[in-house]
Amino acid sequence: MVKTPQLQALLHAKCPRCRRGEMFKTSMYGFKSQKMYDNCPKCNLRYEIEPGYFYAAMYVGYAFNVALAVTVGIVTYLITGEQESPWIYVITIFLFSLVLAPLNFRYSRVILLYWLSPKIKYLEHYDHD
Ligand SMILES: [Zn+2]
Repeated sequence: MVKTPQLQALLHAKCPRCRRGEMFKTSMYGFKSQKMYDNCPKCNLRYEIEPGYFYAAMYVGYAFNVALAVTVGIVTYLITGEQESPWIYVITIFLFSLVLAPLNFRYSRVILLYWLSPKIKYLEHYDHD
């Protein structure tokens, strides 16, 4: 069976091993809270490799937010040219991080599993379905 390309599977938040199963139960901007499957619905990979594994995703999320703040800050400066008041920056950065919070939550976990989890490749050696 041909695997979905990694980047495509990553963007759609598919299982990092089989790239077919969904990682999240709910849609990104649904009214329900963000819920993850414990195991891949297709290949049964356990997403939370160790208890508390997703605490590490907070660091990825933090890096996202820093990158976002810098980008939004620069764009805000280019658009407004504001140099006196910091409030326009505080407000735009806050709004953007609020709007993008579900995306940040989701992709910080996806990226943690795809790129920062060598154990998943190790797991590939056994329990194939
Ligand atoms: Zn899977």
